[in-house]
Amino acid sequence: MFKKILIANRGEIALRIICACKELGIRTVAIYSEADRNSLHVRFADEAICIGPPQLSQSYLNIPAVISAAEIANVDAIHPGYGLLAENANFAEVCETCNIKFIGPPPEVMRLMGEKEKARAAMKKAGVPILPGSEGILGSDAEAMEWAEQVGFPVIIKASAGGGGRGMRIVRSKEELPALFKAASSEAAAAFGNGDLYMEKYVENPRHIEFQVLADQHGNVVSLGERECSIQRRHQKLLEESPSTQVTPELRAEIGGILSKTLSGIGYMNAGTIEFLMDRERKLYFIEMNTRIQVEHPVTEMVTDVDLVKSQIMIAADARLQDVLQGPVVSRGHAIECRINAEHPEKFTPSAGKITVFNPPGGTGVRIDTAAYAEGVIPPYYDSLIAKLIVRGKDRPEAISRMQRALGMFVVEGIHTTIPLHRRILAAPEFLVGNTDTGFIERFLAASKELAAQAKS
Ligand code: ADP
Repeated sequence: MFKKILIANRGEIALRIICACKELGIRTVAIYSEADRNSLHVRFADEAICIGPPQLSQSYLNIPAVISAAEIANVDAIHPGYGLLAENANFAEVCETCNIKFIGPPPEVMRLMGEKEKARAAMKKAGVPILPGSEGILGSDAEAMEWAEQVGFPVIIKASAGGGGRGMRIVRSKEELPALFKAASSEAAAAFGNGDLYMEKYVENPRHIEFQVLADQHGNVVSLGERECSIQRRHQKLLEESPSTQVTPELRAEIGGILSKTLSGIGYMNAGTIEFLMDRERKLYFIEMNTRIQVEHPVTEMVTDVDLVKSQIMIAADARLQDVLQGPVVSRGHAIECRINAEHPEKFTPSAGKITVFNPPGGTGVRIDTAAYAEGVIPPYYDSLIAKLIVRGKDRPEAISRMQRALGMFVVEGIHTTIPLHRRILAAPEFLVGNTDTGFIERFLAASKELAAQAKS
C-alpha cells in the first residue's frame, strides 16, 4: 500500500480524498494556491505545499509546480480528484515518468475516452448503443450539413474535447447550422485549445443516466449501478439520485454486463463513469465516459456502502476487486445529492465572498461533503460548488422528505446559494412523481416566473 499521497485538488474533493487516506493509514500532502492558504484541505493534510498564485494556470493546473511538490514531499502516488488535471493524459504520463503512481486509468485509455468522438466509435464497436451521428471529426460546416441531413434535424454539435457543457450547440434547421457550427468551434477552441467537433442526433428532453464502474489492474470490472442526473441547468448537473426511477433490474443487469465486457476489452482501470441519455422509449444511448471520480459519487456510496475513493486508492496499489469489495455489490434504499453552489439561485451568477454563518444539518441518513466554514472566504477564481448535501432513505419518498428537512436546517449566510432553489425543486409535483428530464429546470423556472407574475397582477 502507498505510504504518502499528494492530492492535486482543492475544496470538498480534496477533503474527501484526505478522509479516505486517513482511514487507510496513508499520509497526505495538500497543495494550495495563495488564495487557499486558509482552506480546510490545507489544515487537515499532514503536509501542505503552496504551489503558486490564485490563477488556476499558475497553481492547480501548473504541472511542473504540482510535480515539484510531489517530488519534494516524496510521495508514492497522486490523486487528481475531479476537474483540474483529472482527465489530463499528459499529466498522468508525467507522473508515470517520475515514478509516481497516478490514481486513475492508464494515459492511453484516458486519451481514447477524452476524445469523445473516438470514445463513441470504440463503444459502438464493442456493441454499446450510441446515437446516430457523424463518423469522425467534422471537417467543415458543409460536411456537418451533409451529416445533419442524413441524421435528421434536430442535431447537436459537440466538442470532441468537450466538458462542462461547453462547445455544444443544438441545431434545429438547415439555416442556422453554419453560424452555430462556427460558434461551437470557437467556443471549443477557446475552452479546450481544440476546436474539433462531431455531431449526434438531438434527443428532446432525455434523461441523463450514468453507470458507475470499478476496474482493477487484473481485468476485473464491476458495475455499481446507476445515478440519474437529469436535473441540470445549462447542461450542468444540479441534483442527482440513485437508483433511477426508470431503470429496471433487468436493464441494470444488461447494461452492467455490456460495460464490464467492453471496459475489460479496452484495458480500463480504476473508477469510471459511463454516461447515457435515455429517450422516451426508455432506450439508453452512450454519450461519454469520465475516467475519474465524479462530483456525484456519494449517491452511489450511500446506497451500496462501497467507499469509491478508498477503492480507487486500493486498486491503484494493485489490489484485486474481490479484496476491495469483499462480497457482491448490493444496493439498498434511495439516495439524493443536492449541489450547493455559491451562486444566485435563479440568475446562476457566481456569488463569491465571505460566509458569515454556516450551519450544516446532521441527523440520520445525512452526509455533507464540504470544505466551507463560517468566516471562510469563497474565492472568485474557482468552481462555485461549496458543499454537497447527500441523504439516504429507505425509499425515494423518504429520501425526498429527509432532503427537504436537511435543506431547511442548512443555514448559509453572507453569500447566495442554491439551497432555496433545491427546496423548490423537491416540492415540485413533477419531481415528486419522478418526471425528471433534462428540460425540467427550464420548464420549472418558466412556470415559477408565471406564478410570480400572476401573484403580482
Ligand atoms: P459535457 O462533457 O460537456 O458535460 P455531455 O456529452 O456529457 O457533455 O452532455 C452534457 C449534457 O448535454 C447531457 O447530460 C444532456 O443534457 C445534453 N446532451 C448531450 N448530448 C445530447 C443529445 N444528443 N441530445 C440531447 N441532449 C444532449
